[in-house]
Amino acid sequence: VELARSFMGGYSEAQKSRSRLEEEHERTKAAFLAKNQFLSTISHELRTPLTSIKGALALVDSGALGELPEKARGPIKIADRNTHRLANLVDDLLLLQKADGGKLELTEEVFDLGELVIDATELFRPYAESAKVGIELKVKRDEFWVRGDRKKIVQVVTNLLSNAAKFSNGRGEILISVQREGGHICLRVTDHGIGIPEGADRKVFEEFGQVDSTDTRKFQGTGLGLNISKRIIEAHGGHIYYESVLGKGSTFYVEMLDTTRYPLPARSMLS
Ligand code: ADP
Repeated sequence: VELARSFMGGYSEAQKSRSRLEEEHERTKAAFLAKNQFLSTISHELRTPLTSIKGALALVDSGALGELPEKARGPIKIADRNTHRLANLVDDLLLLQKADGGKLELTEEVFDLGELVIDATELFRPYAESAKVGIELKVKRDEFWVRGDRKKIVQVVTNLLSNAAKFSNGRGEILISVQREGGHICLRVTDHGIGIPEGADRKVFEEFGQVDSTDTRKFQGTGLGLNISKRIIEAHGGHIYYESVLGKGSTFYVEMLDTTRYPLPARSMLS
């Protein structure tokens, strides 16, 4: 009898803790859905006014309203740069919300990763200059063809470049290379900046994760870029990871499948 009683006691305890777990699961699910709904509403609501600000700035800049006074050029440029920054953030939030719903859609094409990296780096140069870091580019065109969503890969590359420049902290050069390694095409972005402490992997790649999130942190950012980059690269069947030495710098690696291992459409069909 004692045995049966203690068995029944254990059984009802187990049942209680199971229903507690279920309740917790329901609460987490509700919180997750509320977060998604919030992200979706706010991103869409921000997008419309941003588009109209961008349009208005482009109109002023085009000269259609008359020549802009010299003194106004600086502030217009600042407004334009920051509108783009905000638009990128909104794009990040929208992508995050889509990815959370398991719906990260890829528009697939075969493209030249080398060319993409060269173009993204050229667009990025003025920013690197303002961050007082040099760029060394070891990338060839027409060698490294990959399959995937070109626009999303641009987002990943831009994010890696902007992190490298930001966390260089005005020190050293950024090295960018694309190489063929094993069955992969490997992009590397190396900086000689602040580095990342050991064991910070999860923080670096998690949603809103930042290694240093204190009030005294001097670098801007949201902690979204690498989380989104990881989702994008993994949706392509690739890998993203880093090696780093605190105080010395970091290298971020992106590996994508080498399309030379697969039949490619004729050159003329790619353009
Ligand atoms: P953030 O908007 O903060 O840059 P990311 O998701 O791009 O967000 O990066 C997450 C965190 O990883 C950064 O806040 C930073 O702590 C760390 N990190 C990313 N790239 C580098 C780098 N090149 N050097 C040092 N730390 C980095």
